[in-house]
Amino acid sequence: MKKSIAIDGPAGAGKSTIAKLVAKELGFIYVDTGAMYRAMALYLIRKGTDREDEKAIEEACRDADISIRYADGIQHVYLMGEIVDDHLRTEEVGNMASVSSANAAVRQKLVDLQQKLAESEDVVMDGRDIGTVVLPDSPCKIFLTASREVRAKRRYDELTQKGEKCDIKKIEADINERDVRDMTRKNSPLRVADDAILIDSSDMTIDQVKDEIIRYAKERF
Ligand code: C5P
Repeated sequence: MKKSIAIDGPAGAGKSTIAKLVAKELGFIYVDTGAMYRAMALYLIRKGTDREDEKAIEEACRDADISIRYADGIQHVYLMGEIVDDHLRTEEVGNMASVSSANAAVRQKLVDLQQKLAESEDVVMDGRDIGTVVLPDSPCKIFLTASREVRAKRRYDELTQKGEKCDIKKIEADINERDVRDMTRKNSPLRVADDAILIDSSDMTIDQVKDEIIRYAKERF
């Protein structure tokens, strides 16, 4: 039986930064499930699919070929055979992902892929429904959050560092909209799993959060 750590939480809570560090320290594979939803969103954008058209999204997603491969422990996302890592973390793709991820057919396809990965590797997996749907039997579930202002500032820093021009107020509004959508959708809404521990990282350093998760994981395994 493979080991798993499930990390869920809202946008910009620092899940991917922390999950990568935890995976490295424990020698697990880091699985960024948001990147898979983003790859699906990129596919839909490129196809010109209307984000309000549920049926069109359901049909289009069947033909999307998304896979994950690892090189030196780093996850690479392939869309129709092309590595799309550098196209995934824009606001346009994030906003589309937040809409298309509510679609049941999209979720089914990507959850299958995530569960297969966790069957063959020890994983640290982050997302919105990992502790509740993807890995409900994981013994180590974390709900990682931070205040909305802190999360907006982190996203802003991430985007400006990459040279993307952005407005912090607009990012905060987008984050708010995404949170509401992720928490109120019918399929796999973002919520704290009953057996998850809650960590609020607003006033914690990256190392403090990482150490707390590793301490908890060691206790659980
Ligand atoms: O975490 P990230 O911002 O990359 O995720 C993009 C979007 O994908 C989220 O806003 C959310 O709607 C969706 N998502 C999801 N379930 C996951 C991971 C991401 O619905 N497990």
